[in-house]
Amino acid sequence: MQWHGGLPLPHCPFSRNGLACLLYIEESSKPIEIQPLPHTYVVKDLVPDLTNFYNQYKSIEPWLKRKDVKGQGEKEYFQSREDRAKLDGMYECILCACCMTSCPSYWWNPEYYLGPAVLMQAYRWIADSRDQFTEERLAWVNDTMKLYRCHGIMNCTNCCPKGLDPAKAIVNLKEQVAETYKDGWKSMMTEQIVKNKGRESGMMYM
Ligand code: SF4
Ligand code: SF4
Repeated sequence: MQWHGGLPLPHCPFSRNGLACLLYIEESSKPIEIQPLPHTYVVKDLVPDLTNFYNQYKSIEPWLKRKDVKGQGEKEYFQSREDRAKLDGMYECILCACCMTSCPSYWWNPEYYLGPAVLMQAYRWIADSRDQFTEERLAWVNDTMKLYRCHGIMNCTNCCPKGLDPAKAIVNLKEQVAETYKDGWKSMMTEQIVKNKGRESGMMYM
């Protein structure tokens, strides 16, 4: 078993990560082995170091970004029911990192590849009709290492304890990049890095 966030998780390179609150454990006289979340640096005992994961999450700027910002007291940004429904299956992510740590591509390149949960959250904001930085967000993730390390192995979707489908979100993300790509994206990204130096993704252990 593994413990993660105070919750035990089944552990084996070929088994699925999960959450103890959703896992029924049969009574047994056999001992239960408890291990921390796999493929992470361990701070102590069962506590994994998720610094890199959270830095990568921060790098995709997981909040609503607008170019025309409303003043205080003005009405909220309208979103139709249809547009709101496009976020279903993504906003429910609890950032448990089960998918990240079961993804072989993430095991090999955690310092560069953003991984399934972070990419799904990047797409969650790209798909949000209220956000006005769609193109900048797409330009940001359009990178051989950040996005294209995903090879559709599907471990992420198979293990998500919330029943979400990060692999599908990554496919949608790649499709939107392919459909909307423009030559100016590289310079757009360079401008963004200059404006926000703390945003670089990758292994950020200081
Ligand atoms: S997509 Fe699922 S497994 Fe991955 S962090 Fe979110 S809730 Fe956890
Ligand atoms: S589909 Fe992509 S993100 Fe998911 S486990 Fe496979 S390589 Fe990793």
